[in-house]
Amino acid sequence: MQESQTSFKRLSEFAQQRRLLHERLKREDARDVDWQERLRQADILARQDALTGVLNRRGLDEGLSALQQSGEWSATQQAEQIAVGFIDIDHFKSFNDEFSHATGDEVLRCLAALLQQIALSPTPSLLGRYGGEEFVLVASVNEERTAWQLFEDCRELIRDHDWSGIAAQRGVTVSIGFATGVPADLPQLLLKADEHLYQAKREGRNRTLPQPASIHSRA
Ligand code: GH3
Ligand code: MG
Ligand code: MG
Repeated sequence: MQESQTSFKRLSEFAQQRRLLHERLKREDARDVDWQERLRQADILARQDALTGVLNRRGLDEGLSALQQSGEWSATQQAEQIAVGFIDIDHFKSFNDEFSHATGDEVLRCLAALLQQIALSPTPSLLGRYGGEEFVLVASVNEERTAWQLFEDCRELIRDHDWSGIAAQRGVTVSIGFATGVPADLPQLLLKADEHLYQAKREGRNRTLPQPASIHSRA
């Protein structure tokens, strides 16, 4: 009798310990999930431009390097021909000087949202803030005409947007330089796009270069 009481006591102590251990493991699991979620969020934030929400320079560089190495946008989508474009706001400094830096910031935020509308269309793409008032858009395209049209759409969307709520009596225009090719040539494509951007600035701004020979400037 005495012996069975002792065994019963030990059994209930054991069950109690098991319950406590189980609860502790559950708590640790929840804490672990919480940490994993925090790490995931931190990972996203580390690659996002705080002002505009698009990729920052680090996110962009990583995305470009992955695309260059694998030639893939994702596990299922192969990037054959791509278009790489630099989009630079014309005379952006004057928004800071004539209005305020807060106005300049608002122009950047709004412009990034407009570019995001285009980047979110079905073609896979990367959109990032390269620095200051300069953005990079990389998208999958079939031919040069399509690339030119893509960037012309960006330029026209920005030019035709109603900016009066941000900077009264002022419009916003951008100059765009782009290049097309295969993902493996990304570094050269970026250089070429950059040259075209500076040519667009030299030729008077508010234009997309290179223009297809058959299409006249709509600037
Ligand atoms: P251009 O047509 O030749 O491109 O002239 P620009 O005035 O656009 O170019 P510039 O390089 O002379 O000036 C860029 C300005 O962008 C200078 C800098 O103060 C401003 N800038 C860079 N980053 C930010 C930002 O995050 N917010 C604001 N408000 N201004 C910024
Ligand atoms: Mg500029
Ligand atoms: Mg610039």
